[in-house]
Amino acid sequence: MITEELLQVRSDIENNLRMLLGRAVMVTDLDAFALPCGCNGITANIRGLELDDIEVFEEQMLIYFKKTASRLGIPPSFIFARLIPGSSVVAAINWRVLCDRCYPDFARARGKTPRPDIYIMHLERRGQQKGTKKG
Ligand SMILES: [Zn+2]
Repeated sequence: MITEELLQVRSDIENNLRMLLGRAVMVTDLDAFALPCGCNGITANIRGLELDDIEVFEEQMLIYFKKTASRLGIPPSFIFARLIPGSSVVAAINWRVLCDRCYPDFARARGKTPRPDIYIMHLERRGQQKGTKKG
């Protein structure tokens, strides 16, 4: 049952962030989502995390977040933090499997903040996967 897996992963992410940062961070919910366009993924809504924390611990967090994706059976191709615009508060961590229509919007972006509410931690460029392109 996917929801039992989500329960476990929610608490693991929370514990991992607490250990890393040494203070209280809460994953208030962990949701699986599917959009009409074909994008799908996982969202971890978070309280107590700041953009500074991500910038300092980005490498460690990313290793852990990639493991989290494979644990949930999704490719770790696009991982980003959603910010509350105009602040440094991290509202959520998103693992999004981009559909073919949405992928170019993000791939075109330069830098880590293509939008005021998005901080890209990891985006796999599809052009780099030589010979693996499917019709
Ligand atoms: Zn899409």
